[in-house]
Amino acid sequence: MAKQQPLTGSKLVIASHNAGKVAEINELLLPLNIHAISAGDAGVPEPEETGTTFEANAILKSEHCLAVTGLPSLADDSGLVVPAIGGAPGIYSARWAGADKNFASAFERIRTELGDKPANAYFVCVLALSLPDGTTSSFEGRVHGVLTFPPRGNKGFGYDPIFIPDGYDVTFGELDPNIKNSISHRAHAFAKFLDYLK
Ligand code: IMP
Repeated sequence: MAKQQPLTGSKLVIASHNAGKVAEINELLLPLNIHAISAGDAGVPEPEETGTTFEANAILKSEHCLAVTGLPSLADDSGLVVPAIGGAPGIYSARWAGADKNFASAFERIRTELGDKPANAYFVCVLALSLPDGTTSSFEGRVHGVLTFPPRGNKGFGYDPIFIPDGYDVTFGELDPNIKNSISHRAHAFAKFLDYLK
């Protein structure tokens, strides 16, 4: 007998208050006939991200969302890892830019801490799916590349203007968003997630 797709006939809650992220995820779920609602719409408060890894934070968010709603819940956690500076900014990627999302100062901090060290870096995205039967699965995607200063391009967000993906000579900030979205850490994590659902 074919494996039952674990989300058949069920709502899915995206453990995020970011409407853009929820819209993007709904787009990806379209072929599976699953409609997702946001944690905000489901009345779920945002938990504190106290984990020390991307996976721990993604799981913390999906399990919290499941505990409040009783519904299948999907969360993601992502960021930029620079091995030569101890993996920073890593899970603190959003926090390095501060509440006012000042990425110029985050770029400068990376450039200063990096000095002459190798500028290799990668983006990570971990998705966590928590189901009412108590199981949680996680799916990780990465995209490797190299950092460049000064920042270039305004098509992306966050750390995109300083990141050149392997195989390209432009930054994520300069790259056509359709190409970025097909090779990104998020795309790889989603491919694994969709594969699991099939
Ligand atoms: P969060 O997972 O939504 O909390 O995002 C963490 C932070 O990682 C964001 O604020 C961005 O700074 C950074 N980040 C995650 N994905 C990307 C990306 O695709 N491009 C640029 N920055 C990213």
